Amino acid sequence: MGEGYNPGPMMRYRVHVSGTVQGVGFRPFVYRIAVQRGLSGYVRNLGDAGVEIEVEGSRDVLDDFLRALREEAPPLAEISGIAVAEIPPNGERAFRILKSREGGDGGGTIPPDIATCERCLADIDDPKSRYHGYWGTSCTDCGPRFTVIESLPYDRPRTSMRDFPMCEDCRREYEDPLDRRYHAQTIACPECGPRLSYLENGREVTGDPIALAAQALKSGKIVAIKGIGGTHLACDATREEVVAELRRRLGRPGQPFALMAPLPLVREFAEVPPEAERLLLSPRRPIVVLPKKGGKLADSVAPGLHTVGFMLPYSGLHHLLFQRLDFPLVMTSANLPGRPMLIENGRILSKLSGIADGFLLHDRRIVARCDDSVVRLAAGKPVFLRRSRGWVPEPIPVDLGEEALLALGAELNVTFALYHRRKVYLSQHIGNVEHLETQEFLKGAIAHLLKITGARMPRVLVCDLHPAFPTTRLAEELGERVIRVQHHVAHVAGLAGEHGLGKLVGIAVDGYGYGADGGAWGGEVIVWREGEWRRAGSLLPVPMPGGDLATLRPGRMAASFLLAAGLDPTEVGLPPEELRIVVHQIERGLNSPETTSAGRFLDAVAAWLGISRERTYEGEPAMRLEAAAAEGKPLPLEPVIREHGGRWVLDTVAIFGELHRLRREGAPAPDLAATAQDALARGLARIAVRVAQEEGIDVVGLTGGAAVNDAIASAVKREVERAGLRYVQHEKIPPGDGGLSFGQLVHAAHALAV
Ligand code: ZN
Ligand code: ZN
Ligand code: FE
Repeated sequence: MGEGYNPGPMMRYRVHVSGTVQGVGFRPFVYRIAVQRGLSGYVRNLGDAGVEIEVEGSRDVLDDFLRALREEAPPLAEISGIAVAEIPPNGERAFRILKSREGGDGGGTIPPDIATCERCLADIDDPKSRYHGYWGTSCTDCGPRFTVIESLPYDRPRTSMRDFPMCEDCRREYEDPLDRRYHAQTIACPECGPRLSYLENGREVTGDPIALAAQALKSGKIVAIKGIGGTHLACDATREEVVAELRRRLGRPGQPFALMAPLPLVREFAEVPPEAERLLLSPRRPIVVLPKKGGKLADSVAPGLHTVGFMLPYSGLHHLLFQRLDFPLVMTSANLPGRPMLIENGRILSKLSGIADGFLLHDRRIVARCDDSVVRLAAGKPVFLRRSRGWVPEPIPVDLGEEALLALGAELNVTFALYHRRKVYLSQHIGNVEHLETQEFLKGAIAHLLKITGARMPRVLVCDLHPAFPTTRLAEELGERVIRVQHHVAHVAGLAGEHGLGKLVGIAVDGYGYGADGGAWGGEVIVWREGEWRRAGSLLPVPMPGGDLATLRPGRMAASFLLAAGLDPTEVGLPPEELRIVVHQIERGLNSPETTSAGRFLDAVAAWLGISRERTYEGEPAMRLEAAAAEGKPLPLEPVIREHGGRWVLDTVAIFGELHRLRREGAPAPDLAATAQDALARGLARIAVRVAQEEGIDVVGLTGGAAVNDAIASAVKREVERAGLRYVQHEKIPPGDGGLSFGQLVHAAHALAV
């Protein structure tokens, strides 16, 4: 503004911003754009009602402020409305960030980790910038958050960045309200910030660590890379001998590996529909499961699957690495089977000594371990396979009453959930708690979440009905009162809770959950009304010969279905001795509990078709079946529904019989796989529709681990909508057991209210 410029009369606006504008760096952003323009006034949070701003200045400048408010908002902010009212100016001089009206959350909302922003990437690439080539560049819009924060309020001395005192240049930017890095708690530069090192054979190698790691990857080595919330094992995803070697060293024969590559490279290997592109580019940077394209990836990346999980680089480190590489990397979590991801340098070096050839490490402590999130599209909408880095600890607003609650999930894919002040904090991925190390991680993560939310340990703990789960024992240990929630009731309640529904007919297509009668449930239709529930339908119970062994050896389930259908079980290809035992177990009812699991039905079909005879990771047979089905088309098959034990059952044995007939008539395996999924989905949907009509409920939803199956979700949606009912699926939480703790909270809160 030069001499003689007439700014015009002073005006004052009161601006109300609604949407996702809290805990995303919105107030510092407003402060900066106001101060940069010489405006006075204030900004403050209004709790659930959004953010209120008053700004005073000349009209031109105020209008430019409003433009910046819309156009330059922080990456995780989602503005749904801006209302502006003119009020009388009061001659205020300064601009201030005011305490929240309710006082409660002043600076108390911890943001998730956010991918390095475009402007920081430009700094990294700019030879004139002091951030040039620096792997840990960040600003108020981007960088690690949840994974570095030790306690409240979010301020550098209470993060693992306290180990790195700011240099003068960083200090200057940190204190300059006009700078993009004003109060950026993770500000760091090559002068003062965390450093990288590259090690081989236990010794640091001299040279540029990123260039050394890139060279090692090009030569086919396996490199452990410490990142934001944990450590990855990386290698060239296009070389079969390299990826197969990683599988051999890890002892992980089949579980698909996630990949990382910049977007143009992703497009060479996978189909990227627009919705998937949006997810890939999101600053939350999840792994997105995409249909494979072409044949250039190593077969061992995702054996037997039609999809592959890709994520884009999300830290400066990743970007600098990919400047030197022209192939996608396998980027799989560095952990021993079922154990938490490694995060401490000493343990990374010792535990991975026989697995990684090289180690690209940094010296910033990871306070909270946080695995990559995974999403895919089902029935046209994104669903979580895992909700972790990029989302955690962002709360999900839901009113479950006054009482604070803590829910601990089940056993596999555990997350826990804290209900505190009308918000649910769903934890990061914890994993399989049958291992002691994972139980320790669970306890530590609970303590950390309580600390960063300022909550006390709730009196009421919530857990599964299963008496022997470690989460059940921990709930007994921690809670003054414990509420146990049946597994599939929790799945359905979670779906109702996230959609704000008081009643819902829920279809749970799931693997295993402990039933209210102690049985192995997993293909259920449940009527849920504000905490009351009824098992209105299920799959037909069939024996699981050998109990848990029938899960690991899906051929046993196939034999069980064939025997029940009066067919010859020899065609499933079980070794004769094992088949003899299976037949004996079923005939005598020895160690053959019955199950209604949808997962076991899909497993059985996969084994019978020769698609998957051995389960090497959770969900493998069903995932391979889905891959085979993607190549085929469902054949007409009328699902048989009848009454059994006071509920409706879908006769899966009859489906098996029909599949057997179709196969005799020459139907190819992909069509049979597609038919099995379709008949299961339509059969359960018809039960749900019938029950909904009887009960006068107009919403039917889909939940459970197999709800991420696109063909199943699409078929259920079609069937429900054809009946004139509303269809819902999970949007905010995973449909699998990673979302179970949320549902446990919803159901327990209603049970408390009764
Ligand atoms: Zn940035
Ligand atoms: Zn510095
Ligand atoms: Fe489940």
